[in-house]
Amino acid sequence: MFRCLLVLLAMLLAMPRVLAQPIEDEALAWLQEYIRIDTVNPPGNEYRAVEFIARILEAEGIPYMTAESAPGRGNIWARLEGGDEPALILLQHTDVVPADPKYWSTEPLSGEIRDGYVWGRGTLDMKGTGVSQLATFVSLKRSGIPLNRDVLLVATADEEAGGLFGAGWLIEHHPEIFEGVGLLINEGGNGEKLADEIIFSVEVTQKVPVWLRLTAVDTPGHGSMPNTSSAVTRIVDALAILRANPFPPRIVPAVDAMFQALAPSSAPEWQEAYSHMANAVQDAGFLEKLQMHSPALHALTRDTCSITRFEASNKINVVPPSAWAEIDCRILPDRPSEVFVNELRELTRPTGVEIEVIMAFTPAVSATNTLLYRAIEEVTAERHPGSRVMQSVSTGFTDSHFTRDLGIASYGFDPTIVPEAEFARIHGNDERISVDAFRRGVSDHLAIISAVVID
Ligand SMILES: [Zn+2]
Repeated sequence: MFRCLLVLLAMLLAMPRVLAQPIEDEALAWLQEYIRIDTVNPPGNEYRAVEFIARILEAEGIPYMTAESAPGRGNIWARLEGGDEPALILLQHTDVVPADPKYWSTEPLSGEIRDGYVWGRGTLDMKGTGVSQLATFVSLKRSGIPLNRDVLLVATADEEAGGLFGAGWLIEHHPEIFEGVGLLINEGGNGEKLADEIIFSVEVTQKVPVWLRLTAVDTPGHGSMPNTSSAVTRIVDALAILRANPFPPRIVPAVDAMFQALAPSSAPEWQEAYSHMANAVQDAGFLEKLQMHSPALHALTRDTCSITRFEASNKINVVPPSAWAEIDCRILPDRPSEVFVNELRELTRPTGVEIEVIMAFTPAVSATNTLLYRAIEEVTAERHPGSRVMQSVSTGFTDSHFTRDLGIASYGFDPTIVPEAEFARIHGNDERISVDAFRRGVSDHLAIISAVVID
C-alpha cells in the first residue's frame, strides 16, 4: 500500500504543472471555425477574427481591448494579471494570404477534416499557432493558478502585408501593451521531422529587408539614333553589377549555430562544411553548390538582392527620359542598413543611378539565455525524448522584428511537429495541418508557457 502511494505521488509530481484539460478537442473545433473566417489579405477584414476571439474570451470571462487601425482592420489584446516578472506576450497575426481554389483539393477556407488533416489557408500560417496560443491563454485562466507575470494574448492584422496596420500600428498607438514585457512567442519556428530525427527550431533573428528603388535619368530621343548612354542602359548596367552578386559571404553567430545544429542530420556530403561554415563559404564553388541545393540556406551566408521590378519606355521606338528598377535586398542582421545602402551606392556610382530606400528595418537578434528559451528546451526534451532544439535564422520577416526593436526577447516558435515537405504548402496550395500533430502541439504549447509563468 505504502509503495502504491509512493508510485502515485511520483506520478502526480511528473504531471505538467497545469493539469491538462480537454482543451485539445476545443482547440480543434476552434481551428476549423477560425479557418472558415475569411481574413484574406488584401483586404484583410481582420475584424472578423477579432469577433471570433472576443467571443471566446467573453465566454471565459477574460476582459479584452480592440482597436481598428483602419476600417475593418481589427486588432485585439487581452491580459491575465500575474506577478512582477517581465510579462510574456503570445503574438499572432489573424490575416492570411489569398488562395486560388482552382489549385486546391478542398475549398481553401473549408476547415474540413480529411485524411487526418485539417485543410485550409492559415492552418500552418498561422491560425493553427494562433489557436494553440488561445488554448494556452484560456487554460491558464481556467486553472486559476497564480501566474508569476502578466500573460498577454495579442492578435493583430496585416502581417502578410508588412504589419503596418497590425503590430506596427499597435506599437505606435497602444504602446502600453508592450510596457514591462520581456518575453514574446510568435510564428517562425516549428518542430520538424528531418530524416529520423525531430528538431525544434526556434527563430531568434531574421534577415533584414532593405527594399530599394534605382532611378536613372538621361537624354531621351528616337530609338533609331541611340546615344552612347541612356536612362535604360544606366539601369541595365547597375542591375548587371548587382546580378554579379558581389556581396562577400560572412557567417554571423546565429547562422553558425544553426548550421552546426543542422550538420548531424544532413547528408554526409554537407556535414563537414556545415560544421565549419566560416571556412566553407570562402570557397566560391561551395557557395554555388549550396545555392543550387538550397536557396534558403545559401541566403543565410551573405547579403542578397533579388531584382524584381523595372520599367522604362512605354513605346518601342522611344528612348525614355527616365527608367527605374526595384530590388528586394535582404541583409544579415549584424549591421545597420545605411552601411549596406552606402556600399551599394559606391558599387553602382559609375552608372549614375540614384538609390532610394523604400523600406528598411533595423537588425536585432534575440538572446537565448532566457527562461522562455530554456523552457522550450526542457519541455520538448521531456515530452519528445531524443529531440533537439536549434536556434534558427529566417530569410523572410515576421512581426517579431517590431518587438525585437523594443528589446523584447522574441522567439518564432510553435512546438507542432510538421514534416519538412508540408512547409511548402505555406502560401501555396493545399495548406493543411495533421490533426494529431496539431493536438499534440496544443498540449506542448501549454506545457512550455506554463513552465515559464507558473512557479
Ligand atoms: Zn505568418
